[in-house]
Amino acid sequence: MIEKLALIGIGLIGSSIALGARRAGLAKTIAISTRRAETLDEARALGLGDIYTIDAAEAVKDADLVILCSPVGSYEAIAARIAPHLKAGAILSDVGSVKGHVVDVVGPHVPAGVHFVPGHPLAGTEHSGPSAGFADLFENRWCVLTPPEGTDPKAVELLKAFWKGLGSDVEAMSPAHHDMVLAITSHVPHLVAYNIVGTVDDLEQDTKSEVIKFSASGFRDFTRIAASDPVMWRDVFLTNRDAVLEMLGRFLEDLSVLQRAVRVGDGEALETLFTRTRAVRRSIIAAGQETEAPDFGRPHGDPKPSEPASE
Ligand code: NAP
Repeated sequence: MIEKLALIGIGLIGSSIALGARRAGLAKTIAISTRRAETLDEARALGLGDIYTIDAAEAVKDADLVILCSPVGSYEAIAARIAPHLKAGAILSDVGSVKGHVVDVVGPHVPAGVHFVPGHPLAGTEHSGPSAGFADLFENRWCVLTPPEGTDPKAVELLKAFWKGLGSDVEAMSPAHHDMVLAITSHVPHLVAYNIVGTVDDLEQDTKSEVIKFSASGFRDFTRIAASDPVMWRDVFLTNRDAVLEMLGRFLEDLSVLQRAVRVGDGEALETLFTRTRAVRRSIIAAGQETEAPDFGRPHGDPKPSEPASE
């Protein structure tokens, strides 16, 4: 058990950590800091922590584990603000969806004697804010840690144990590898979803067509991803540019091949690809990362999904 946990930023991810840590008894005291007073009041009303403050420096005082849970674009300023107040021997971590950038902007602020172990839980929903969190969010989901070379193994083990206590499986890798893998598994899919929903929205306005009415035929599933937090995702694309452009290049090449197959009527090429992609989904289900219930387990007759899907 950690004596004091400090969470800077208390939206979907921060509040889920607070609820999960409380439920599993991982921290005696939880200090919460966020930018806006209204959000802090909301966190207090939900009973997410023990100490509430607008001042991140006050929240991290005497904390054994500090986790940055705000949008990645805010990390540098927060790191500069809290660095002089971190206790010797404390672990400083984060949950940011991008890792190379975090190492670059937070790393230089970390004082000697503080262990910097960046992290990223591969779990989320399209909802934001303190009331969006739930204690089960990280259960059976991966959490990736990217400790810089030479990090004290005891600090890494402690953070691993913390995430395991929240129900996650934990794996360590380099920040560059993380950013490349996440570019294709998360960042480009979000870009595609934002794009297709934007295209449909333009079309809807131009033609007054019936895309919203008939959205359940496929479009609706993209809208879940495209409803994700605009500030968080803006920051992801601003801070993982190289890996996203690399994967986007491959995606566009493959899309051109598909476009040609449609144009020339190459049914065999289309069927071969669609068979391969169906197998990919089956392997994700077999790995326990998705429900095998048809249509994401949506109860038919009720348009609401039964459970939130992942990032
Ligand atoms: P969120 O629900 O929008 O919450 C963000 C929180 O950060 C809010 O409490 C916001 O509160 C606070 N905040 C914003 N700017 C701040 C600043 N300058 N200083 C202090 N607090 C600030 O976002 P989230 O989904 O929890 O995402 C948080 C982090 O988790 C991001 O770095 C994201 O990359 C990562 N992540 C997200 C997901 C996902 O699916 N959502 C999954 C894995 C990792 P105020 O109202 O006070 O501004």
